[in-house]
Amino acid sequence: KTLQFIFLNRGALDNTGYTMEEARSLTPIDLKPDYSVSSFRNMIEPLINGKKEILVFQTTHKRKDQSLYDVEVHLQKMFYRNREVFTAIIIDITQATNDEKRLKELHEKLVKSNERLKYFAATTAHDLKEPLRMISNFSDLLRTRLEGQLNEKTSKYLYFISDAANRMQQLIYDILEYSEIEAGKLKKTIVDLKGILLNVMSDLEPSISSKKAILNLPDEYPVIRGNEILLYRVFQNLINNSLKYSKENQRPKITLSIKEDFDCFLFTIADNGIGIEEKYLNKIFDLYVRLHSKAEFQGTGLGLAIVQKIIHLHGGEIWVESIPGEGSQFYFKLPK
Ligand code: ADP
Repeated sequence: KTLQFIFLNRGALDNTGYTMEEARSLTPIDLKPDYSVSSFRNMIEPLINGKKEILVFQTTHKRKDQSLYDVEVHLQKMFYRNREVFTAIIIDITQATNDEKRLKELHEKLVKSNERLKYFAATTAHDLKEPLRMISNFSDLLRTRLEGQLNEKTSKYLYFISDAANRMQQLIYDILEYSEIEAGKLKKTIVDLKGILLNVMSDLEPSISSKKAILNLPDEYPVIRGNEILLYRVFQNLINNSLKYSKENQRPKITLSIKEDFDCFLFTIADNGIGIEEKYLNKIFDLYVRLHSKAEFQGTGLGLAIVQKIIHLHGGEIWVESIPGEGSQFYFKLPK
């Protein structure tokens, strides 16, 4: 009734700096500068009238020397020598509160530095486009103007210049695309999967017909929510890779299948291409990872990194299984 302390254990005495004698003349309000008698009584009302078994709250405690520390209080009603009393377990959360504050500061710093990095990557890539276009255009111009007048070596050098410029253009395009895919900007709608695949097929038609590739697509498509443009890029990249990394002496056969699972749809894109050695299976989704020289296969090594980023943004996951020389199966899950 008086709220006066009856007993404090050793830890409580050490923490508050009072002796037992001193503490017995105090009430919790003397320790809790955030509360007045009435606000404290209001708070413990549910314990008194039995509406609550336990109250847990965070506040600040004042020591005898007036210094403050953050605490978490667990308050309960109990019987002690036939009297109704309160028992409180007080946890000093100074460290946890400091850690949390520090974590928040670090997180904010990280977000800002990430923003700056993204901005840097985007502007650098963007600014490089123009001079590159000049190199590419003028080397093409030189080649056509000097057609027939150049010896074999010189025309080869000119070809190297424009080829390098083209690859760099593709690289810049991919870096920009990678840095622009962002969670916050992800607009989701019901996705027309069949439409996406028809478009991808028409995009890749030159390569499909020159390689005489066989594409097996499902008859039915599930209804999923996602970003149509980004998912289009997923299928385009994966099917393009299956065409690109096909075996020279064999017609590429690419099969897309979709299975319904409990909470997601599992997509599989299987090919009969050159396959991937086991030790590279996890690495190929990293930025700039390529297993072949540019002479063997053109590419920037960003395609699968972009695909993975898009799948993760949709709350899914992606992985690959493969037997070198026989083919690869790319699996990805999208939540329902
Ligand atoms: P890129 O095709 O531009 O090199 P990707 O990120 O799309 O980059 O692929 C990374 C690497 O993974 C490729 O260089 C290739 O070695 C390997 N790879 C991707 N898809 C396949 C596939 N279907 N079959 C065999 N290897 C593949």
